[in-house]
Amino acid sequence: MSDLVIIGAGLAAASAVETLREEGYDGSITLVGTEPEPPYERPQLSKDLLKGKDFQPLHDDQWYAERSATLRLGVTAVAVDRDLRTVTLDDGSWLPYDQLLFATGAGPRVPDLPGVERATLLRTRADAEGLLDQFVPGRTLVTVGGGWIGLEVAAAARDAGLEVTVLERGPKPLAGVLGDTLADYLVGVHESHGVVIRTEVEAAEITQTGVLLTTGEEIPADIVVAAVGAVPNDQLAAAAGLAVDADKGGIVTGDHLETADPRIFAAGDVALATHLHLGPLRVEHWDNAIRQGRLAARALLGQHVHYDWAPYFYTDQFEFSMEYVGHSAPDDEVVVRGSLEDSEFLAYWLRDAAVTAAMNVGIWDVSDKLRALVGQTVDPPAPDAL
Ligand code: FAD
Repeated sequence: MSDLVIIGAGLAAASAVETLREEGYDGSITLVGTEPEPPYERPQLSKDLLKGKDFQPLHDDQWYAERSATLRLGVTAVAVDRDLRTVTLDDGSWLPYDQLLFATGAGPRVPDLPGVERATLLRTRADAEGLLDQFVPGRTLVTVGGGWIGLEVAAAARDAGLEVTVLERGPKPLAGVLGDTLADYLVGVHESHGVVIRTEVEAAEITQTGVLLTTGEEIPADIVVAAVGAVPNDQLAAAAGLAVDADKGGIVTGDHLETADPRIFAAGDVALATHLHLGPLRVEHWDNAIRQGRLAARALLGQHVHYDWAPYFYTDQFEFSMEYVGHSAPDDEVVVRGSLEDSEFLAYWLRDAAVTAAMNVGIWDVSDKLRALVGQTVDPPAPDAL
């Protein structure tokens, strides 16, 4: 028998529990989580909860009981002693461990702006419920940041009848990921629903009445949402002497999610893991948390497994409902097949005639086929490539 402690009770943690028991692990499992609820899927916060739909945890308490997994919720791990092999919690108690998994996720990046305490951040169920309470038709909402979460919040708020403005520092929202053509398409989708997208603008202050730009212009807002990215929760690992990356952030691991301490692994948003083909990679997506949770479980059991899959994510914003698989670079060529007007198309990212990533919009059940294309050489991807 051995004791496994998982710090962080999110998606990667729950996925690890499932695989550990499936694979016959018979030691104890304890999940420590700051939030009061058992693991849940954060995508539902912006896609369902902000639209007034019910919140669902990933599994009920019975699921954990059936797997003899102990949930220690509403407590935060504050120290890891690697010599004594203990985790100290903020309620004064401590847990012994033989093996440890960091699944601490990431937190919203807080912009360094005067008045930022007036802004809403979105990471937890409580954040989303607090924001939904403010969704009153006719109110004005401004997102500082035109990334995935900023745009999803904009779509949900607009659907709820708010007047919405997105402030984006760059020339186009998400141009670095999507490329110019698809970034323009996405702006068009939002604008056709009445969202105002302001590009090449920089917020200087969150005021009592809105967002002051560096130009001196004030964008009025009843609600300001700061959505300027996420920061991995790697401080505890760093304090325990594990390597974290100063530039990219995240706990540095090898290709089976192991740290330099053979008893300690990391998975999910917090892991800067060595991908077999792509090198060090930190991915902040739902699918990665699930797959890395499974991989970490197998690696904890000593199985010979590697981090080698193409990253995947999805989003829903108005009629822009998509899945993306792969890992493109901003200067990859983008080829679109299908109809942007109808929001039904496939897009491929190409480098040296090889597919680096692919996306399906409004066309379903093709993700596995697109995944299989990633890394293949095609010249060019034909409309019937599927
Ligand atoms: P998390 O889910 O963040 O869980 C980590 C948990 O650890 C948290 O509960 C945290 O409180 C806890 N914790 C941290 N430190 C400690 C500590 N010291 N002690 C105890 N507990 C601790 N991805 C997609 O692919 N598609 C989407 O559409 C999408 N939408 C999203 C929408 C929103 C609003 C957000 C916030 C994220 C979205 N994501 C999406 C990203 C996806 O949710 C994350 O990649 C995923 O949740 C990561 O899982 P995780 O287990 O690594 O971390």
